[in-house]
Amino acid sequence: MFLDANENPYGEYNRYPDAFQRKLKEKIAEIKNLDASNLFLGNGSDEVIDLLFRIFCKPGLDKVITCPPTYGMYQVSADINDIEVLDVQLNSDFQPDVKSIINTAESDNVKMLFICSPNNPTGNAINSAHIKLLLNSFQGIVVVDEAYSDFSSEPSCTQYLADHENLVVLQTLSKAYGMAGLRIGLCWSSGEITGLLNKVKPPYNISRVNQDAALELLDNIKEYEARLNLIMNEKVRLKKELERIRVINKIYPSEANFLLVEVENADRIYNELQNRGVIIRNRNSKVPDCVRITIGTPEENDELLKCLSKI
Ligand SMILES: *Cc1c(COP(=O)(O)O)cnc(C)c1O
Repeated sequence: MFLDANENPYGEYNRYPDAFQRKLKEKIAEIKNLDASNLFLGNGSDEVIDLLFRIFCKPGLDKVITCPPTYGMYQVSADINDIEVLDVQLNSDFQPDVKSIINTAESDNVKMLFICSPNNPTGNAINSAHIKLLLNSFQGIVVVDEAYSDFSSEPSCTQYLADHENLVVLQTLSKAYGMAGLRIGLCWSSGEITGLLNKVKPPYNISRVNQDAALELLDNIKEYEARLNLIMNEKVRLKKELERIRVINKIYPSEANFLLVEVENADRIYNELQNRGVIIRNRNSKVPDCVRITIGTPEENDELLKCLSKI
């Protein structure tokens, strides 16, 4: 009998959800072959990113390093938390400039470093040698965002957790697992950091409906694998077909479920596709002349190719 939480005694959703999502964490830990005690779940990775700022950075004082072109949410979350972002651009191979990052980290009050691997929007994985160097030389928290690692052949940085207490690895159910609507972000870190995240998060940050739905979907791992395979095969096919299209100059290698494509005129291609009902991401302002194209169903990819060949 629970008469403690001022819940309504009637109804299907009358009880608060498990604040620590124990069942879901056990399931995810089993799938990923890691320890559930190192796992924190956020209402999407985006909530985890915000919590990390609130835990490790003092507003108006502290700073973080990001490596553009990369995921926009680090900057957005930094701005909201009044944290200065020091940008150290990726080099021409879209790899981090380790020396320059280490130099920049010498400046006062640099508390976190964000590395996105595979990187959005460039699609490449970050060299593990670079990540190891940064883990050993950066004094603050190293956040490795692996939102796309399920599409990648590179091993996860979770392998470094045991030896690096300053490492935080973000993953998500939003991309390869196809659950963006459920808002479930994974955060692997030391027990100490997990404890801090648990203290600062809103108590019921993931709804019961969302926890239950994720658990049910994760039970069907065969279907997940089949869909992942289909997407990977479509990526290979789409790349091959795109190479034959006149307005396309270059397709970057991708370890993710999207392709970074250099075109003759990104603004024009974006607009022409939009007029035909195909929405891609124009990255012209971040990577000159480039658009980012997500791998869709075979039918969607065919439609994209048809539209592109008419431009
Ligand atoms: C899509 C994406 C995420 C996922 O965010 P969620 O809030 O978990 O949906 C995180 N990081 C990067 C780089 C992404 O592209």
